Amino acid sequence: MLYDAAVIGAGPAGVTAALYLVRSGLKVALVENSATGGQILSTAEIENYPGFPKSVKGWELADLFEAHLANYSVERVRGQALSVEKQENGNFLLNLSEDKTLEACTVVACTGARHRPLGAPGEEAFAGKGVSYCAVCDGNFYRGRDVAVVGGGNSALEEALYLSRIVNKVYLIHRRDAFRGAMVYQDKIREAANIELVTGSVVDEIRGGAAGVEAVAVRHLADGATRTIPVDGIFIYVGMEPVSGYLPEEVNRDAAGFVLTDTEMVTSLPGIFAAGDIRAKRCRQVSSAVGDGATAATAAFSYLEQRNA
Ligand code: NAP
Repeated sequence: MLYDAAVIGAGPAGVTAALYLVRSGLKVALVENSATGGQILSTAEIENYPGFPKSVKGWELADLFEAHLANYSVERVRGQALSVEKQENGNFLLNLSEDKTLEACTVVACTGARHRPLGAPGEEAFAGKGVSYCAVCDGNFYRGRDVAVVGGGNSALEEALYLSRIVNKVYLIHRRDAFRGAMVYQDKIREAANIELVTGSVVDEIRGGAAGVEAVAVRHLADGATRTIPVDGIFIYVGMEPVSGYLPEEVNRDAAGFVLTDTEMVTSLPGIFAAGDIRAKRCRQVSSAVGDGATAATAAFSYLEQRNA
């Protein structure tokens, strides 16, 4: 089956790109490995997306995306993109999991980014047994217990606040004394009675036994003082890494693997566009992903018009 456009990833960028492309009259495939929504599915509340003055839960927004897609004849393809090859005819062959393939004249890559591991001893051993990257998914297991959150960006602050409403106590461990997350979250963190700040400190080890995590060993960077904090869970939010490894090597990326585009979401390989958190950029928001998706779809449509002229 030949599609005019294949959009890979059904987060805010991919859903928007698919909607814009199908509304332009194109035959569109939307490839997604899991449920529609991407990272918003692991976000409790979204407070900064216009149109939702009382905030919207991540899953509710994902449901609205799904309902919006259902109004159009976007072909939904379940699978993980393993590779994309440019063929001699100029089209792209997408190799998906379960030996599925798909051919498209243009590709919009919207596979976003995933949480970066901390790299601390014990992290891998206790993954799923106390080490988590998703408070919304796993927070409830720690109801009434003590947990640690690592990081100082918006994700760490937001998720520490979310957890503070469920658990007994949150230790927020950050390597610097200043947070990079938004001031609105910093203020709420400082007001929360059950969040203890452990700043200027790094995690040396995550410790535990057969039942899972039991403690986190931290070290204060300035004076070298060490401390073992008893916790049942540790939530890691130390930034994101892109899901871009399936793209052809002709698609230029930065040192961390984020895809380089121009302001129209055009990549270095003609016919491939990128939108959302997969891109090298500073602002990583639902609203900016939606904007990227619309821009990429517009550029992909122009590319096809020129190619077919
Ligand atoms: P981020 O903003 O890159 O923050 C990562 C945090 O982890 C930083 O505080 C960083 O410390 C720390 N860190 C990085 N490597 C570390 C290591 N090896 N050991 C210990 N700490 C480490 O990542 P994010 O919070 O996941 O957010 C990603 C993007 O999504 C950002 O652009 C963010 O603004 C956006 N986002 C927005 C919202 C919102 O607006 N509501 C919510 C979530 C995410 P330093 O500060 O010392 O570098």
